[in-house]
Amino acid sequence: MKKLGTLITGLLLISSGIGAEEHRHAGAHEHGIVQLDVAIEDKSADIDLEAPAVNIYGFEHTPQSAADKTRQKAGLDRIRKNLPQLLKFPKELGCTFKVSKLEWVLEKEEGHEAGEKQGEHSVVQGEFKVTCKKPLAGAKLRLGFSGMFREFNLTKVRVQAVTADKQTSKDIVNDEGEVQL
Ligand SMILES: [Zn+2]
Repeated sequence: MKKLGTLITGLLLISSGIGAEEHRHAGAHEHGIVQLDVAIEDKSADIDLEAPAVNIYGFEHTPQSAADKTRQKAGLDRIRKNLPQLLKFPKELGCTFKVSKLEWVLEKEEGHEAGEKQGEHSVVQGEFKVTCKKPLAGAKLRLGFSGMFREFNLTKVRVQAVTADKQTSKDIVNDEGEVQL
């Protein structure tokens, strides 16, 4: 999944055709929708997250004021400190989380919605490592993003999960349902 992080960084430069990553480079992000890529290898998983910044801390311009900077930091901290509530692996698997990367990135693409100023889109990108005591394949993953970021209208998480022999795509709306890994 290292490669995926590099691809995201190169969002403006390239349009990748590599499998699961393809859709996320189709154009500007869609507000309200978070992309979550889960690559499972036995008892651990690499998770890549990409969320419109507006759904994490309420705006997408480059923070100038102290108030903006505080709000932005609070949004990122909310992810950092609540990973077990956002990514709910079954308790019996005994999973622990590590944040490899968590940052915001300004997208210099054209605004895609009426009323949006051009070049004023940004995303929150995260890379997390999940390490568990038991294999993850076949487990059910539930999410808590919509509840955690309800005030910012985060309604949908588009999950792509890959194990050694299975690929799953599922939209989780308002934290309802689960992804069978
Ligand atoms: Zn945006």
